[in-house]
Amino acid sequence: ADHGPARTGRRRLGVMGGTFDPIHHGHLVAASEVAARFRLDEVVFVPTGQPWQKSHRAVSPAEDRYLMTVIATAENPQFSVSRIDIDRGGPTYTVDTLRDLRALNPDTDLFFITGADALAQLLTWRDSEELFSLAHFVGVTRPGHQLTDAGLPAGGVSLVEVPALAISSTECRARVAKGDPIWYMVPDGVVRYIDKRELYRGE
Ligand code: ATP
Ligand code: MG
Repeated sequence: ADHGPARTGRRRLGVMGGTFDPIHHGHLVAASEVAARFRLDEVVFVPTGQPWQKSHRAVSPAEDRYLMTVIATAENPQFSVSRIDIDRGGPTYTVDTLRDLRALNPDTDLFFITGADALAQLLTWRDSEELFSLAHFVGVTRPGHQLTDAGLPAGGVSLVEVPALAISSTECRARVAKGDPIWYMVPDGVVRYIDKRELYRGE
């Protein structure tokens, strides 16, 4: 019987952090592509607590962002969702996310997946030196952003081209506010959840 890669080596866990306000197909394609390229056993999506870099706008309640992430990933046996950043409370620092995931997952290598825009800001993140000892970083292409590992430690980051989806949560929110459709930009269940909870209408 084939027991998969966990039999021969350490478990390989992808980590996709994000505000997910809302989660969209750009996030899902990036996670799926990196999972295949890096032979990951699983990708865990980790919605942020109150994000410090987005304090200029009201972020939707954590519970809504968490549930949308669950709805979007439920059908994929390789995808899961973690509440650790939400339950910790306060602003999310990636170093805390990775420390906690390390403690919860012994014998596991972590691969932190991040879009080109977020990767460019990596050195401004708290405890950026420690980050590279906790996880391998995988930077993915994102339309409208330059993918580069300039300034980042050699060997700590891999750059991966993923199928281009020019979708952002910001645009999804703006479209809902205008009454424009977001079908096929986010999973169907997420469209219905946004409608049911009347998210983004007043923005
Ligand atoms: P917002 O517009 O509110 O900032 P977003 O679309 O950038 O939302 P985030 O939750 O901020 O989504 O992003 C989480 C992670 O997913 C980040 O690393 C980001 O770079 C990456 N990402 C988001 N959209 C895409 C996309 N279309 N293609 C590739 N990566 C993406
Ligand atoms: Mg963003």
